[in-house]
Amino acid sequence: MSVKSKLSNKSERFTESVIRGMTQLCLKHNAINLSQGTPAYQPPDEVKQAAIAAIQDGYNQYSITWGAPDFREAIAKKMNKFNHIETDAAKNVTVTCGSTEGMLSALLAIINPGDEVIIFEPFYENYGPDTIISGAKPVYVALQETKAEDGGMRFTYDKDELKNAFSNNTKAIIINTPNNPLGKVFTHDELQEIADLCITYDCLAITDEIYEHMIYDGKQHISIGSLPNMTDRTITVSGLSKTYSMTGWRLGYVVASEILSNAIRKMHDFLTVGAPHPLQRAGIVALNLPSSYYKELVQKYDRNRKLLVNILTEAGFRCHPPEAAYYIMTDISDFGFPDDTKFAHWLVQEIGVGGVPGSSFYSRSHLGKTKFRFMFSMSDDILDEAGNRLMKIKSKI
Ligand code: PLP
Repeated sequence: MSVKSKLSNKSERFTESVIRGMTQLCLKHNAINLSQGTPAYQPPDEVKQAAIAAIQDGYNQYSITWGAPDFREAIAKKMNKFNHIETDAAKNVTVTCGSTEGMLSALLAIINPGDEVIIFEPFYENYGPDTIISGAKPVYVALQETKAEDGGMRFTYDKDELKNAFSNNTKAIIINTPNNPLGKVFTHDELQEIADLCITYDCLAITDEIYEHMIYDGKQHISIGSLPNMTDRTITVSGLSKTYSMTGWRLGYVVASEILSNAIRKMHDFLTVGAPHPLQRAGIVALNLPSSYYKELVQKYDRNRKLLVNILTEAGFRCHPPEAAYYIMTDISDFGFPDDTKFAHWLVQEIGVGGVPGSSFYSRSHLGKTKFRFMFSMSDDILDEAGNRLMKIKSKI
């Protein structure tokens, strides 16, 4: 029997994550891993203690499948206050196993064969497989480096390209603000333009806001679901992984209208039953941390951002400071490599630093051939050591 012939067409249509593959390569060559977006920090002590206490206090069985009521209350409070989206814990919140599961459950809840989903590229790796698993037809719109009014560089889309991407088959557009891998924060004008198109074409906005608390230089996070007439047509996906440095806890959530939430809850139930119950209890403590926590978080990451931008610029990469999140997308054209994947392997083996080939963030992979992403959620001494190694690039090529 050929076991391979038993595989589903879907499973054959995407490869293993390039980012996790880079992590394996870094381990093999003992390289500093600036590829995978794992926070360098630990969750606050009181949050860890709350998780231990929850286990000891007996929260060891399933919670309600769409989330423990108090945790959903804490999420609803945050959504009302921070995201300015009217949210009822009983009707609008579904707790998921990370925002990863939240995004997939949302797509599974709305996609029918033939439905198109608009995705900005470069995009977070998972959206590609998500569309394949859910059966959506992706339609891509490029985010390009453009000179901003203040003279700086920003990533934005071409308005006509965006308009032309919408059709009567469009079911939804996926927005990721702040964006991974570009660190772009969508502006109010951009979100309003997207919202107007969603209303014109009667389609949904699905927004992944996992980096909503990591924004620099006083820029503001805006949730498209808070714009006029958008609450009912927006599915907001977020989670605790990045903000509280707990990617291993798998706590995410989806906020949507009652009708959409009911469909999302069904998908979520049969995919995973529920997120870890004791960790949801600790999640309540995390969501109730004082505002100083978020201020310090931004200060920590901002320091790393500046440090790595300086290192990369000195080492010969072309880049500018990201507006948000903890990634820097660079241009590697000046190094003269035939493509980004060859550069990635060379960098790990010869220099001892890992990053992510830009093409893995694009459906039209040629658009990313001269791009390369680094992440800066690392301690200062590791970033300094990465700097020492990266300074050797010019002498080795
Ligand atoms: N969304 C984006 C844009 C991400 O960059 C990541 C992780 O890197 C995730 C979602 C995954 O988040 P979670 O841990 O909540 O599944």
